[in-house]
Amino acid sequence: MKKLSPEDQARLGSRTRLVHAGRDPSEQFGFVNTPIYRGSTVLYPTFDDIKHRRGRFSYGTKGTPTIEALETAWSDLAGAAGTVLLPSGLAAVAIALQSCLKAGDHLLVTDSAYQPARTFCNGFLARYGVETTYYDPALGADIERLFKPNTAAVLTESPGSQSFEMQDIPAIAEAAHRRDICVVMDNTWATPLFFPPHARGVDIAIEAGTKYLSGGSDLLLGMVSANETWFPHVRRMFDLIAPCAGPEDVFLGLRGLRTMELRLREHEKQALEMARWLRDRPEVEQVLHPALETCPGHEIWKRDYLGSSGLFSIILKPASDRALAAMLDDLQLFGMGFSWGGFESLVVPFDCSSYRTVTQWRPSGPALRFHIGLENLDDLKADLDAGFARLRAAL
Ligand SMILES: *Cc1c(COP(=O)(O)O)cnc(C)c1O
Repeated sequence: MKKLSPEDQARLGSRTRLVHAGRDPSEQFGFVNTPIYRGSTVLYPTFDDIKHRRGRFSYGTKGTPTIEALETAWSDLAGAAGTVLLPSGLAAVAIALQSCLKAGDHLLVTDSAYQPARTFCNGFLARYGVETTYYDPALGADIERLFKPNTAAVLTESPGSQSFEMQDIPAIAEAAHRRDICVVMDNTWATPLFFPPHARGVDIAIEAGTKYLSGGSDLLLGMVSANETWFPHVRRMFDLIAPCAGPEDVFLGLRGLRTMELRLREHEKQALEMARWLRDRPEVEQVLHPALETCPGHEIWKRDYLGSSGLFSIILKPASDRALAAMLDDLQLFGMGFSWGGFESLVVPFDCSSYRTVTQWRPSGPALRFHIGLENLDDLKADLDAGFARLRAAL
């Protein structure tokens, strides 16, 4: 096999790149995959080498061939100058924000952010002298009105966790960059396949690899990618703390990467069909799926996104907890639990009103978030159909 040059790689389609990125069989005795390197110590052959720290690898916390393989592949996919890997998505949020903030700074965070990210800002950053203001995710260029002289970063997440508001990222980035404010985005829903973050103005992008990179609900991983300006800051913060991802999890991430686009396309197709089916149900008040025409945020999705994933929410017509329990408790195929992105379908009840501070969350009935897995859609519909019958009977 002849090696691909960077120019060759740039010409390839995304599926081909996912197959080849971060992989060099000639360095692995011809084996297709980079194996799991476990290691702390790296040996230097001579006094002169160790004195001048000469060598491709220097110590376990600074990287291994396994870690480098996924970092390189993710940077290629995200169009980033560099990537670091963290042991969870939440750790990725933490490193991303720590990389661009210091004591005395002001941070803007979307009111629709992943709730543990809020807890990190309120519980950790506040302790270290960073002030957080939450903002309405509907703000585009108008976010400028909230900028203070010490605003250093804006955290965005689109669509919003649970509630699926779409943010105008290019407009926010343009306003922020006029003031040298760093734009951070949690891009877990779309992945770089469906929203290339850095090409849309994002400086530092976060991805919970726990979700679609894994695809199997079997590992925790986080990625932080950044552009030329911000990657040195990210790398420096990472090296100060050394929150290293485990070798097995990184290996599983590499394994998941090869099939990520195929899986995402299937989740997308299944979720869209399920969302349409739910939209036509009499028990459903509203579907929150930005890729569906008629859903809130569809215009932004159409303009900026290349696809949609398997996660969306619905608002039911008013129903008691008892009726909801009758529906959910006896589902046979949909599991009830947090996280998502695996092969299996999930449903979780949620209520954003308990933590929002600048926007109102007042749905007319209970809210459910679905992750649509890879099962046969007819089976999933039959499971929900029976659930809706139990809900109606208990109303
Ligand atoms: C799951 C998730 C995270 C955190 O990932 P963990 O690996 O579970 O810590 C961060 N952001 C979003 C949007 C998520 O859905």
